[in-house]
Amino acid sequence: MRNLMVAGNWKMNGDSVMASTLIDDIVVGFKGYDSCELLICPPFPLLSLVANKIKGTSLLLGAQNLSEHKSGAYTGEISASMLEDMGCQYVIVGHSERRAIMRETNEMVAEKFHAAVNNGLIPILCVGETLEQKNQEQTTQIIEEQLKSVMGTNADSMTNAIIAYEPVWAIGTGLTATPEEAQHIHHFIRNTISSISQEIADKIQILYGGSVNGDNAKGLFSMPDIDGGLIGGASLTARDFLSIAKATNK
Ligand code: PEP
Repeated sequence: MRNLMVAGNWKMNGDSVMASTLIDDIVVGFKGYDSCELLICPPFPLLSLVANKIKGTSLLLGAQNLSEHKSGAYTGEISASMLEDMGCQYVIVGHSERRAIMRETNEMVAEKFHAAVNNGLIPILCVGETLEQKNQEQTTQIIEEQLKSVMGTNADSMTNAIIAYEPVWAIGTGLTATPEEAQHIHHFIRNTISSISQEIADKIQILYGGSVNGDNAKGLFSMPDIDGGLIGGASLTARDFLSIAKATNK
């Protein structure tokens, strides 16, 4: 039996005033709920503010990116150990915006993933196809490449990791995969991992991301291989984010 998780990716939004109000409202609104793990991934400068606000609650803290390097002359970069020091337990790796805008390759994503694992952070590895790749029926091929470049022939690094299936065409567009479409790909992901380790495949949480909202969340989360969601836009409003979290009550 896998726990469900709802993770909010605030992206490059907010300031200390906005973050204080948002996190206070989320903490109050989530009190008494335990149908999912609730993870908040604010931008780097707001991590310590959120870390302090969620102390003593069940909420979890994650970052949106990390450096593949340990330390040294990498101006502007943030290491896994710095994230740990700030109270992060999780970090998003390979988000499609970083792959597309920051030109992160599968190889760079793999290095970041392993930097996280080696420092005791749980990476949330984002995979997903663009609209063009979907139209060319390359979805499973692309996802298999993204997965295998990280896990190679040994799924051990996946023991403490999460996968997020995020079709690029569904991110921030209002378009979303149907529960059946998403389930099909989640099953494919679990199957790909099971070809190396059945135990890890059974255990790993696979989140869906792409325009999830309070209306479509329940249908998605009711699918057997969908273990929650990675939420962008709707995580910036406490009411919307909480309505998604509450939809995990399967
Ligand atoms: C995301 O950026 O990971 C995401 C899923 O965004 P949105 O929910 O806004 O589509």
